[in-house]
Amino acid sequence: MLLRWLDGIQCGMVDVGTQRRWTVSKQRTMALHWKILIGLILGIVVGLAINTMWDASTWNSMGINDPAAWMAGTSDVEANADASIGARAARFVGNFNNFIGELFMRGLRFIAVPIVVFSLIVGASSLNDLSKLSRIGGKTIGIYLVTTAIAITVGLLFANIVKPGNFVSEETRDGFVAQFGDQAKAKIDAAHAPDIWDTVLNIVPKNPFNAIAQGNMLQVVFASLLVGIALTLIKREKATIVIQFFDAMTDVIIKIVEIVLMIAPYAVFALIVEQIAELGLDILGSLAVYSLVVVAGLATMAFVIYPIGFKILGGISYGRFFKAISPAQLLAFSSASSSATLPVTMECCEQRLGIKEEVSAFVLPIGATINMDGTALYQGVAAVFIAQLYGMDLTVADQLTIVLTATLASIGTAGVPGVGMIMLVIVLESVGIPLEGIAVILGVDRILDMCRTSCNVTGDCMVCAVVANSEGAIETPEQVAERMAQPLDEDPRAEGPLDK
Ligand code: ASP
Repeated sequence: MLLRWLDGIQCGMVDVGTQRRWTVSKQRTMALHWKILIGLILGIVVGLAINTMWDASTWNSMGINDPAAWMAGTSDVEANADASIGARAARFVGNFNNFIGELFMRGLRFIAVPIVVFSLIVGASSLNDLSKLSRIGGKTIGIYLVTTAIAITVGLLFANIVKPGNFVSEETRDGFVAQFGDQAKAKIDAAHAPDIWDTVLNIVPKNPFNAIAQGNMLQVVFASLLVGIALTLIKREKATIVIQFFDAMTDVIIKIVEIVLMIAPYAVFALIVEQIAELGLDILGSLAVYSLVVVAGLATMAFVIYPIGFKILGGISYGRFFKAISPAQLLAFSSASSSATLPVTMECCEQRLGIKEEVSAFVLPIGATINMDGTALYQGVAAVFIAQLYGMDLTVADQLTIVLTATLASIGTAGVPGVGMIMLVIVLESVGIPLEGIAVILGVDRILDMCRTSCNVTGDCMVCAVVANSEGAIETPEQVAERMAQPLDEDPRAEGPLDK
C-alpha cells in the first residue's frame, strides 16, 4: 500500500467533527521508483563532481589545512584556525547530507524487526496448517541453496574465463597490500568459520525478547512462527484477540514505513553522494577488470538466471517483476544492506507483485538473512582473482570446495554492509589462498557491495514469487491492477486475514 500511497501523496490537517485529523489525498505524480532513480543518478553525478573537483587546494583556499579534522568537527586544530565562512557552510552541508542518509537508514532498521514479528505471527496463524508451513519452509530453503550454488558457479565461470588477476601487475598488488594491509587484517581477525551445528542451534533463541532487541532475524523468524503456530492450537476466541492485535500492529508498522519512505529519494541521494564523493571512480583503476567481472556476473544472475525462475516457475513476466521490485533494488543498492531494505522488499512483493503475506512474511525475512546470491558470486570471483594474483592454480576440487564454503559463508553473512568481505576470509582459507589478497580488493568493496546487495534482494524476491506461485498465493496482474485502482481505504489487502 505504501508504494501506491507514495506514488501521489498529499497530506494535510482537516477538521472532522470536533477533532483535527491528518488526511491523505491522492494525486497522480511521479512514481516512487522514478524518484528514487533520479535521486540515485543525481547522487552519482554530484558525488563524482565533488570527488574530481574538490581537493586539498579547495580546502586550503577556505583556510582548512586538516580537512579530516574539520569535517569530524574537531574545533581546536591549529591548521584550521583560519576557517572561512565557506568552510563552515561546506561542513554544514556535509553533515546535513549524512544526517539525512543516517536518519533514513535508522528508520528502515527501526521497522525491520517489528514488521517481521507482526506480519509473520498473523501470517502463520492464518495458515491453519502445519504441513503447509513445513512445505513452504522446505521449498524456500531448498531454492535458496540452489540459487546460491548457481550464483557461485556463474562467478567462478566468469573469473576463470576472463582471468581478471592477469590484468594486475605484481607491483600494483604489493602497493595495495602496503596501503590497505592494516584494514585487511582487521577484517581477517573478525572472521570465524561458522559451525553448522551451532548455526542451526542458534536459530532457537534462549530469550525471544533478547532476539528482538538484538535484531537477530533468524531467531525473530523462529519465535514469531512459533507464536503464530501456537495461536492456531489454542481456543479460537482467545486466539482471535491476539491475532487482531498483531494484525492492527502490522497496519501501524506499514504506516510508519510510509512515513519513512517519504524521504527515500533524498536519502538515496545523500547516501550515494557520500560514498561516491569519498571513493570516486579512480579507485576502480587497476581493479576495473575484476570489478567488471563481478558486475557482469551479478547482472547475469539478475537479468538472465532469475527471469528463468520467475517466468517459468513463478508465472510472472519480465516487465511486471522488475517494475514491481525496482524500489527495493534501488534501495538495496544505495544502502548496501538487505536487512535494512527488508520492509521495502516486503511491500514490493505484497503490494506490487500481489504475493500473499503468509508467504512473503516467511520467505523474505529468511532470504534477507540467509540468501546472499550476489555475495556468494562475489566471493567466488574474489577467490579466483586473488589466487590468480598470487600465481596459484585452483584445481576443480578447489573450485568445488569454494562452491561449498561460499554457500555456507553466504548463509552466515549478515545483511549489512561489508560482511560479505569478512566471510570471504573463510572461503580463502578453505583452499589456502593468501589472505593478504583481501587488501587488494578492499578499496572497491563498497561499490561492489552495493551491486551485490541489489542482486541479493532480487534473488529473495524471485524465490518469493516462485514459492508463492507454487502455493497459489499470488494475484494475477489484473487482480493487482484492480486492487491498486481501488481507493486506499477500500483496499482489501490493507485488512488482515481475520477480516477477509
Ligand atoms: N551487504 C550485503 C547485504 O546486505 C552483504 C555483503 O555482501 O556484504 O546483502
